Amino acid sequence: MEIFGYKMRLIDIYEHLFEALGRQDWWPADTPFEVVVGALLTQQTRWNNVEQAISNLKEHSLLEPEALASADTDTLEELIRCTGFYRQKARRLKNLASYFYRYEDALMDMPVDELRRELLQLDGVGEETADSIILYAIDKPKFVIDAYTRRILGCLGIDGNYRMLQQRFESELVHDVDIFKEYHALIVEYGKQYCTRHRCEDCVLIKNGKTII
Ligand code: SF4
Repeated sequence: MEIFGYKMRLIDIYEHLFEALGRQDWWPADTPFEVVVGALLTQQTRWNNVEQAISNLKEHSLLEPEALASADTDTLEELIRCTGFYRQKARRLKNLASYFYRYEDALMDMPVDELRRELLQLDGVGEETADSIILYAIDKPKFVIDAYTRRILGCLGIDGNYRMLQQRFESELVHDVDIFKEYHALIVEYGKQYCTRHRCEDCVLIKNGKTII
């Protein structure tokens, strides 16, 4: 990839982010199904609201596919109310839980592309949610793109839709689950700590509009 007159590799961005922030060890969850629930609840809300909802679900022993699928809808809505759009999310969570209850073992053995197509059929599961589930819950290599990825790559002069950006990462990086997990986590953490707080003067990737990698 030619940027500002010389070759920049995505692995160089990774190394700079890693040097700045250290290892992230994502996703913060006790079980794969907790990742699935978190991936859906995090849509259009902050992570601390998701943490609160997850804690509520844990207290009511609902972080398990069968229990969540058969949970009382009114109770579930109250437990996840803090994440916003709680009626819609409760319905979608029950649907997702029921799906995982029936097919979890089969999903684990599916090729990544088939698995992705399956997840994208489910109500409320878009590309970012599906890829987060594949990478962090099912432990298969699928690079997750989010708003921070677009923002950071945009600053480096790399634009494109979800699929185009994902293909760049997947064609350039070794398909290693640990690196994919860590790279996305670093991007999100960097986005929170630097981009959102407008700490562009301290940016480890760009200075005065030019890449410093
Ligand atoms: S800190 Fe600023 S310059 Fe650096 S990637 Fe984020 S938005 Fe861009």
